[in-house]
Amino acid sequence: MHCPYCNQQAEFLSSKDFYGQDYGTNLYVCRPCDARVGTHGKGKTPLGTMANGKLRELRMKCHKYFDRKWKSGEMSRGKAYKWLQEAMNLSEKDAHIGTFNEHQCKELLQILNINEERSDMSLMDAAAKILAEGFDVKKGAVSDFEELPEGTYEAMLENVEWRTNDSGFEWLSLQFEILSEGYEGRKYFGMISFHNERFMNMNIKLALRVAGALGVELNPEDFETPETSLVDAFENGVGIEVDLTLTNWENKKTGKRGQNFICDEPQFE
Ligand SMILES: [Zn+2]
Repeated sequence: MHCPYCNQQAEFLSSKDFYGQDYGTNLYVCRPCDARVGTHGKGKTPLGTMANGKLRELRMKCHKYFDRKWKSGEMSRGKAYKWLQEAMNLSEKDAHIGTFNEHQCKELLQILNINEERSDMSLMDAAAKILAEGFDVKKGAVSDFEELPEGTYEAMLENVEWRTNDSGFEWLSLQFEILSEGYEGRKYFGMISFHNERFMNMNIKLALRVAGALGVELNPEDFETPETSLVDAFENGVGIEVDLTLTNWENKKTGKRGQNFICDEPQFE
């Protein structure tokens, strides 16, 4: 593959050689242009075209807003891509954000009515926009942390921690890095808490399932002092790739929403 910016032959590297950590993928890289593209798994097939920092950011932004079309349930994923194809006047083969150039990204953001430059927006404008978008002042999510849409992702366990909040709530925090196309680099924090007796058995099973997918063996003793033993055990799974499946849940009564996660061994195509 040639770098689209300088036309030089790109380097073909493993993620381990490039990032110093094995994400289970390879990359085509042009260092002088800061351009790169990942491959599907450890194969040679690129996930799109090589992009520099600016283009990677634009593509991520496109995904963030375009994906809302289908993740909101407004339409199916297939319909959303059909929409993309028609809106951008592209063939089915070309209607992939991973192959978009800067101009196409900007065009899509314009069609989606997203201002590329948000920084010049006044505080008042920003507040007006948030309210106009129907922000629920009683239970709207304040965090800007973008929830990942439901589905199965290629993900890698990146970090394990035992966390405690101010009210003494404790949980095992599993930080995954998403490797799937369009979501590369996004984080997902899987939370397993043994606090609530009602969910204790369920969460022990969840911990065992996740460990199983990571090839980590857990013993009952690991649950005796989870803040150390369980964390130590899961640390053996850092760097391991799994299929991470997210499902949304909503409590209609309280309006509380959240996401469940489960891990499986990767299903290679
Ligand atoms: Zn280059």
